[in-house]
Amino acid sequence: MNTASLNDLTRARAEDRPVLLTGGAVVTMDPAVPDLPSGDVLLIGSQIAAVGADLRSDPAHAADAAAALVIDTRGAIVSPGFVDTHRHSWQAQLRRSIPDVTDLGAYVMSTLAGTAPAYTPHDMYIGTRLAALSALDAGITTLLDFSHNSRTSAHSDAAIHALLDTGIRGVHASMAPHFGAWDGQWPADVERLMSRFHGANDGLVTLRLAALSTDEIAGDHIAYGPALAAVARDLGVWTSIDAVFGTASSAAILRWAQQGILDPTLTLIHATGLAPEAWTAMGDAGVTVSLAPTSDAQIGLETAVPAVDEALAAGIRPGLSIDVEVALANDMFTQMRTLHAIQRMRAVNSGYGSAAPTRSRISTRDVLDFATLQGAKANGLGDVTGSLTPGKQADLLIVRADDINNMPLNDAVGTLVLGADARNIDTVLVAGRPRKWAGSLVGEDLGTLHREVAASRDDILRRVAAR
Ligand SMILES: [Zn+2]
Repeated sequence: MNTASLNDLTRARAEDRPVLLTGGAVVTMDPAVPDLPSGDVLLIGSQIAAVGADLRSDPAHAADAAAALVIDTRGAIVSPGFVDTHRHSWQAQLRRSIPDVTDLGAYVMSTLAGTAPAYTPHDMYIGTRLAALSALDAGITTLLDFSHNSRTSAHSDAAIHALLDTGIRGVHASMAPHFGAWDGQWPADVERLMSRFHGANDGLVTLRLAALSTDEIAGDHIAYGPALAAVARDLGVWTSIDAVFGTASSAAILRWAQQGILDPTLTLIHATGLAPEAWTAMGDAGVTVSLAPTSDAQIGLETAVPAVDEALAAGIRPGLSIDVEVALANDMFTQMRTLHAIQRMRAVNSGYGSAAPTRSRISTRDVLDFATLQGAKANGLGDVTGSLTPGKQADLLIVRADDINNMPLNDAVGTLVLGADARNIDTVLVAGRPRKWAGSLVGEDLGTLHREVAASRDDILRRVAAR
């Protein structure tokens, strides 16, 4: 496939030379920019400059295309990177530690009450860095890190530094810890974090507030309401709200609407088992929604069914998210396939032997839209990333379609959603910078990473046992 080297690309970027990806199947996920069975994507600096069937013979782009470093993408799919709208990245060195978790309470007690208080700032850095690198490896170019173990300012700084050091497009969503000793610095400290880190790394890292929907899990200090809404408004940031499910959250949503604090700056996460009136209020307010299909189903959050029908009926196209690696897979392929299978099962089952209205049998393109563009919108980055749109940042993937599990290529969207996995991701660019190349993360020594991760995990467990 590709004949340009990483050195070629690095040099081209240093010299401000355009880069032309040519010959691949192009999936744009922008309704206004048609997909191409074989086409070109022109990059200039950090941006996508043009998408077209043959840019070298397009007068508007011929000069740049002729001067460009050419990357041959024949045999591959060129697509936007995936967007994760909610992951608790700090937990990554505990990944799959509770694979058979029985319910939400068991997760809360084992992880949030059990291990979280034993984290040092260094552990926050190691876990968040591991999560971000794994995300990049699996083609996730934008990660919203719902960082809810901010025991001290140093914990927050460490988590943000991890995002900065990996070169991912990161949204640090800051929340206080649920349980255990902490400095009480949140939410006041978010102002300092904003002035220090918002827009850092050439705009790659942004910040927002994080909260829970009610006081049911860990008390009032982290429940969204007028006080936190005022903090967010003063700072000019968006807010991601986790644990949105069931009767109590439905009541909270209606209360927020009355208080005037249910608005487009909110992302509501999970949204399972909500009352119809709550969905109507959400649609009217223009909030974004993050579905966590594996987490809803496996941990059993309220109805445990991802709320696709409810969201679409309210006029909301949701983003997708990974949530907790302690019990779940960490790639977007799993989320897309899980959601696709569950929803089609639900749609067929709802009509089976009954006269009930048939639910929406969503398509592979719907699911890919949720995993890219809609996620970008939920992360407040809809104008920046999530689709191959000229003027947006060059956050994109080159996915090998001639690997054993994908050959021969018949349908690019179907292949991305139903066929591909992380091993097929040859190249990952974030703002045009190579973060994965020829199937390997750029500039990362996995041996060192493994030693650091294992040492942090061991230290955490030792501190937990000593308590
Ligand atoms: Zn969560």
